[in-house]
Amino acid sequence: MRDTPSILELDQATMQRLGHRVAGVVAEHLAGIRGKRAFTTISRETADRLLAAPPPAKGSDFETILTTLRERVFANAALEPHPGFIAYVPSCPAYPAVLGDWLTSGYNFFGGAWTVGAAPSEVELVVLEWLRTWLGMPAGAGGLLTNGGSGANLTAMVAARHRAIADDAARVAKLTVYLSDQSHSSAIRAAWMAGIPRANVRSIPCDADFRLDLALLARAIAADRAFGLIPFMVVANAGTTNTGAVDPLGAIADLCAREQLWMHVDAAYGGFAVLTREGREKLAGIERADSVTMDPHKWLYVPFECGCLLARDPARLKDAFQILPDYLKDTETSGGEVNFADYGEQLSREARGIKVWLNVQFYGTDALREAIAYSLALAPLAERCVRDAPGLEVMAPATLGILCFRAHPAGLDDPAALDALNQRVLRAVNASGRYFISSTRVRGAFSLRICPIGHRTRERDMRELVALCADIVPTLSL
Ligand SMILES: *Cc1c(COP(=O)(O)O)cnc(C)c1O
Repeated sequence: MRDTPSILELDQATMQRLGHRVAGVVAEHLAGIRGKRAFTTISRETADRLLAAPPPAKGSDFETILTTLRERVFANAALEPHPGFIAYVPSCPAYPAVLGDWLTSGYNFFGGAWTVGAAPSEVELVVLEWLRTWLGMPAGAGGLLTNGGSGANLTAMVAARHRAIADDAARVAKLTVYLSDQSHSSAIRAAWMAGIPRANVRSIPCDADFRLDLALLARAIAADRAFGLIPFMVVANAGTTNTGAVDPLGAIADLCAREQLWMHVDAAYGGFAVLTREGREKLAGIERADSVTMDPHKWLYVPFECGCLLARDPARLKDAFQILPDYLKDTETSGGEVNFADYGEQLSREARGIKVWLNVQFYGTDALREAIAYSLALAPLAERCVRDAPGLEVMAPATLGILCFRAHPAGLDDPAALDALNQRVLRAVNASGRYFISSTRVRGAFSLRICPIGHRTRERDMRELVALCADIVPTLSL
């Protein structure tokens, strides 16, 4: 063996040059993003034609590779950080958080064990403590940052299962979990993955405001107990993906206390509204949950991937997940040091706290609160515009950053015709390139849906979007 530099090593000047180049590309992209199309997609066939190729035996020049990426990859995807991307739940990171992501991967800290990644783990603890105080959960609550809301929901589900039956496998078939019919699919999948029988995942109907119906919930629990099943968990929503609805969290907390059920709150996107006074009031009771899911990659302006699970008693997570094989014995901690690998499924994991921490350090909570409050006011503004626009109607009033509406021209009342018309409105709006909106069903009716929580989306976007919809309708129904 010759003691020469690694074949993969680059010298400092080269790293510097390539890094500047990449930062320049991203800065140019973000500075001019409003002028680009919010939504672009291509077929698998086209994508194959552009990109399918065996790995090259010899490397290429960086500039050539970058050009390929920009022309063939970056140009052929929707732009989440675009001000017009208001479909689904957008992820619109602030640039300092992006830099935090780059720094984290540049150093490539190990976020799974304290001995290896001590201070980066401390940063994650600090961030979790911030989130805990924002939610108003009791001191001692904690958890971990995850790949996203799906990972957080799964982690909570496994911990709740473990608390209910430990490793009494014979009783798994009787475990029963309660969600609302508006719950996110990831909560249902979490139950499936946790081994809860699919037939025991109860979808409880909602009231007229899309909130979980408490009386129906109580009745379902009683019926299941009478049948010999083991109710163990309620998944409540603080911001449903469909309409932004917040379940009656305080009353659900009372019921869970009475019934000794684990109360989980899925606040993946909506939880950050607690930074504002309005959101704080709307989410009252969330602090009583056994666990809460939040997604910093949604409304805390951090890039993918960053979710969070906070548990009232983090020891419950450790009970469910900790395992100490021989090859990890030397990572065991004795003081307050935390091995995040003991709290969830991942061993090797990104030190995700750094990008959140950097973002909060850079802006401060006042600016973040102001940004969240601004976007919280956008859906209500859009709702007022819809109410003023001829031929449009509100399907679900603005709630926690989400509005559902549709075209409904005078004289057109056939449900199937209205659905078909609105599907065409959706396609036309998205084809404009200026906005990317999504759809859902509200009480069975096809509805347009917006979630304007990205920090680039402004008031004029709401006015222009509603005007665009109103203008499109006559051209379609002719
Ligand atoms: C986005 C979302 C999820 C899923 O989170 P991911 O980060 O996409 O995995 C779960 N629940 C709610 C309410 C959400 O908005």
